[in-house]
Amino acid sequence: MWNYNEYKDVIEDGDVVLIWVSRDNVKPIKISSGGVFNTRYGSFKHDEMIGKEYGSQIAVRTKSSKRFGFIHVLQATPELWTQSLPHRTQIVYTPDSSYIMQRLKCGPLSRVIEAGTGSGSFSHAFARSAGRVFSYEFHEVRYEQALKEFQEHGLVVGGNVTVTHRDVCQGGFEIRCGDKTSYEFGKGAEGGELVELRANCIFLDLPAPWDAIPHLGAVIARDERVGMCCFSPCIEQVDKTLEVLEKYGWGDVEMVEIQGRQYESRRQMVRRLDDALERLRDVKKRKQQGVERRKRLCEQLVSGEEIDGDVRPSTLKTGYNPFGKGSRVKEGDGKFEWKQVAKIESEIKSHTSYLTFAFKIVDKTRDEKQAHEVLEEFKD
Ligand code: SAM
Repeated sequence: MWNYNEYKDVIEDGDVVLIWVSRDNVKPIKISSGGVFNTRYGSFKHDEMIGKEYGSQIAVRTKSSKRFGFIHVLQATPELWTQSLPHRTQIVYTPDSSYIMQRLKCGPLSRVIEAGTGSGSFSHAFARSAGRVFSYEFHEVRYEQALKEFQEHGLVVGGNVTVTHRDVCQGGFEIRCGDKTSYEFGKGAEGGELVELRANCIFLDLPAPWDAIPHLGAVIARDERVGMCCFSPCIEQVDKTLEVLEKYGWGDVEMVEIQGRQYESRRQMVRRLDDALERLRDVKKRKQQGVERRKRLCEQLVSGEEIDGDVRPSTLKTGYNPFGKGSRVKEGDGKFEWKQVAKIESEIKSHTSYLTFAFKIVDKTRDEKQAHEVLEEFKD
């Protein structure tokens, strides 16, 4: 079970934890007494983890050698879950989700509508920050899978997430008590009262958001500013969305794109012109030696002379090779001069999608008396 609000110190039986094997290998597991977590570095017993503090490093002797294999047992967070979850769809990553949430001012008073649920990556981030999350998914297997995970993570019962199995472009977002497609509200008799969603934070990660936007009018809050973000990979989708946003009265429209880059701190060997010249002289000298050696060998073959035992004399290793060819120089080797540089990661996860933001206030009438009082307050 996850608990976003109360971080715990000690790992207990039944906890869902995230095992950090390496930066690109984080695995979610449920701790159960007697269980074993297998990696290529060795097998880690769950019993060795129970009772330890979160963040602990667990070590085992590797099977083949006397060396140790290590893992770290971490408490589940939406960020780590995003890194480790089983992908059923493309997902929203933390650089995008955190930016979107701050733009939509997502907080404890937010009532979020999210469609589609997909792999549930963003749902977990919303669940931690928002007051209420209504998530919709039309693909049955993905809906079932998301529901199962949300239940295991304590986001449904005793949590703040409702998942509804629905095509929102066809059926909209309204939920009626007794609706069997909506896990939480499906319990009573069918055709019950409409659930008041009063959503003030909308996130649409759908191929055709323009078909879903017209349905939002029935479920958004009427007396406050409602924010929406559409996550679309193609500019043509953005274009089509903009037309519909305008038609349905959404304003303050802005489209942005997140360009996430990771910089690494590295050391680079200082290379001078003199070094280049020395290297060129060295190459020339070795070439000359080779030519002479081959010539001598040919002459010995032709004259029937005994061939030198040492046909290929061991070339002296160049003492200094500033260009890294031949002898490998370890980064930071104290024999060389280094400078500190920032290197950008070679594979940049840059454009994921275009983020189109729009806002709407349905009820623009204001209490003139109250507005006057507020303005008076600011006069001095
Ligand atoms: N944001 C999700 C995440 O972070 O894991 C990923 C969403 S995935 C890209 C899009 C999902 O929307 C898919 O699972 C798809 O089945 C669902 N979907 C597409 N059209 C839909 C519709 N009209 N109603 C409900 N769900 C829909």
